[in-house]
Amino acid sequence: MILKKICLLGDFAVGKTSLVRRYVDRQFSDQYLSTVGVKISRKLLDYSSPESEDRKLQLVLWDIEGSTEFKGIPSSYIQGAHGAVVVGDLTRKDTLEHVESHIAQFFMANPTAYAVVAFNKADLSEHQLPLNHFAEANKRILATIRTSAKTGDSVDQLFDVLGRQLIIV
Ligand code: GDP
Ligand code: MG
Repeated sequence: MILKKICLLGDFAVGKTSLVRRYVDRQFSDQYLSTVGVKISRKLLDYSSPESEDRKLQLVLWDIEGSTEFKGIPSSYIQGAHGAVVVGDLTRKDTLEHVESHIAQFFMANPTAYAVVAFNKADLSEHQLPLNHFAEANKRILATIRTSAKTGDSVDQLFDVLGRQLIIV
């Protein structure tokens, strides 16, 4: 079995914890619970087929506490990661503008890793993807996807894009 470390990155309250909960526990809560420290969740993906047996991948999802604004992200959090899910909130423009710097910081520490971008809270906004040009310029950004942790829209797809890439590298 292959283990891959995935970091959730993004500003405060964009929905990092909610995306992990939706993906792993199939749940959503409107209540705001700020994550204390780092929470680690696991998700087993099975890409086995008759042609290629035993293609199992465990995503180890690292979700850091919300208020990193002043303290910054500890390097131990992103070091050694194989992938990142970088999240922006479609209802808060500033959080979308910060996606780029979260990505830059991540690739600085892990130049051979991969990232997917979630424009979250799609249930609240008609806003179209504002950062496509950015993703096109970097082959290690696999996709930018509108998601909703609330409705579950495109959440599996988000992690699946990353999983499919990480099983072949
Ligand atoms: P984090 O700080 O990035 O971990 O953000 P949270 O997951 O704690 O979410 C912050 C707030 O946004 C909470 O009140 C969530 O219920 C809400 N939230 C998260 N994702 C969504 C979403 O897709 N749609 C809506 N409507 N609310 C969301
Ligand atoms: Mg959180």
